[in-house]
Amino acid sequence: MKEQKSDDKTAGVAKVHFIQQRIIDDLKAAKNDGRVHTRFPPEPNGYLHIGHAKSICLNFGLAKTFAGVCNLRFDDTNPSKEEVEYVNSIREDVRWLGFDWGENEFFASDYFAKLHDYAVQLIEQGQAYVCDLSPSETREYRGNLQEPGRNSPFRERSVTENLDLFARMRAGDFADGARVLRAKIDMTSGNMNMRDPVIYRIANVVHHRTGDTWCIYPMYDFAHGLSDAIEGITHSVCTLEFQDHRPLYDWFIEQLLTPSQPQQIEFSRLNLSYTVMSKRKLKQLVDENLVSGWDDPRLPTLSGLRRRGFSPESIRNFCERIGVAKRNSMVDVALLEHSVREDLNRRAARYMAVLNPLKVVIENYPEGQIEELDAINNPEDESMGKRKVPFSRVIYVERDDFMEDAPKKFYRLTVGREVRLRYAYYIRCERIEKDENGEVTTLYCTYDPATRGGTSPDGRKVKSTLHWVAEKTAISAEVRLYDRLFSDPDPAAEKDGESFTAKINPDSLTVLDDCKLEPALADVAAGRAVQFERLGYFTVDSKANSSDKQVFNRTVTLRDNWAKKSAKQQNKNKSRDKRRPEC
Ligand code: ATP
Ligand code: MG
Repeated sequence: MKEQKSDDKTAGVAKVHFIQQRIIDDLKAAKNDGRVHTRFPPEPNGYLHIGHAKSICLNFGLAKTFAGVCNLRFDDTNPSKEEVEYVNSIREDVRWLGFDWGENEFFASDYFAKLHDYAVQLIEQGQAYVCDLSPSETREYRGNLQEPGRNSPFRERSVTENLDLFARMRAGDFADGARVLRAKIDMTSGNMNMRDPVIYRIANVVHHRTGDTWCIYPMYDFAHGLSDAIEGITHSVCTLEFQDHRPLYDWFIEQLLTPSQPQQIEFSRLNLSYTVMSKRKLKQLVDENLVSGWDDPRLPTLSGLRRRGFSPESIRNFCERIGVAKRNSMVDVALLEHSVREDLNRRAARYMAVLNPLKVVIENYPEGQIEELDAINNPEDESMGKRKVPFSRVIYVERDDFMEDAPKKFYRLTVGREVRLRYAYYIRCERIEKDENGEVTTLYCTYDPATRGGTSPDGRKVKSTLHWVAEKTAISAEVRLYDRLFSDPDPAAEKDGESFTAKINPDSLTVLDDCKLEPALADVAAGRAVQFERLGYFTVDSKANSSDKQVFNRTVTLRDNWAKKSAKQQNKNKSRDKRRPEC
């Protein structure tokens, strides 16, 4: 019967990674009564980032694939760093990413009473003791990788004395740091985590949920595995740095809770080039005002990526693409950018916007006339329809689409050159006007009425097509162009003692405050992605004041380094394959 159930759950899992394989094997062996129960366990001490997205997609994904359940558990055992603001942002981000934990929201702090009882049980079993060594003495007694540790002089305290001291720790009789409760395991273990680890510490800090009920708090290693066991988690998926903690994870559960046995499985964390991911570093950027907040669009936080215009689909696709493995590696940030382009290319309607406007007067176009031209919203998807774009005698083009002394290969506007205006006409630049500083202020052009829609009946070819915006109907907007926050591919690597903040890219944000947009862009809702033709994908900033000028954030440019790179790689592979028969 159970066998049958397991087979059903594993059906349809095509290409499996090692964690899925582990679960398939467990289901086949009818382990955990065929249940699959995972959890995503953030510590509410910062906002979630793209690395967490990998863990969210993995944990919720496993539950979905194997018809199981995934809990959202806040690992809130360190009150001095945790805040309600973070709890709320985590909920919002997980939901935005597309996952629903239903009723299964928990807090490690819900278990403080139980965890306290487990600690008492360990003392009663002779497996925990109150230790009075100072932190530096504790460190010294602990030994190192080459040398075994030494037993604390307090290790052999009687159960009665330990129970009494622990009760007084709990009652607030001692100052922070005066005493700790330690597990009694093995001071000579080759695994440092097993050398009598601290399981409770004194901290007279108000907790965001339990207030001042407690002045002792459990350590992460103690609380985490036991919380898993309490919730009936079957597969406790975490990142590789916890591999050496696994024996301790198992030890606590074995002493206190057999037979319930969640198993810890480690995978490699996501590292992204040009990005810092640790919450401590992200918090430093926020606290030192080096960015505008946790949702600064240059940060890899989910709230930053959302504000920047990344869709949840593109992040989920990215997580799918990078896969799940056991080897630590650095993923090229270009792959993330590629994922968002791929998604928006299909979904985002295209519009025309001029970021650095240069005025063009079409001298043979009737003054006062406004013509409505047909434009396609997305050539990738006909169902997105068409719209009308107004055209008039005075328009704006992009300043860098004109060059006065144009080299031969410059095919855009210069005096005497004809170009196509997208969806409109061919125009030829006849002459220019400059201000007293020699800066070009206006281009005077003529248009060919026979080329309406952008094709010439006589088959005359032009080499470039420019986007434009009609002056009369233009909307003025602010546009923020973002680039990578760091100029170093591995900003977190400590080189020559230089702080990662010294590697911030000074050009990571460019604000353009006099951009001209076609009128259809007036009604774009905050958060909706659009393409500005030739310029990239943009989204209305969700924080900008709507009564002021509209503010658009650039999500990503159209240039795709990743696609180019992989095409090059494929070509290389092809030519290698071609050579192969000869060798
Ligand atoms: P950080 O190192 O950014 O401070 P953390 O590990 O302290 O992160 P937690 O809130 O404890 O953050 O993380 C919640 C879950 O997300 C954990 O299971 C953790 O292993 C996972 N996680 C955190 N960072 C990454 C990452 N870069 N890649 C994959 N999973 C991650
Ligand atoms: Mg952590």
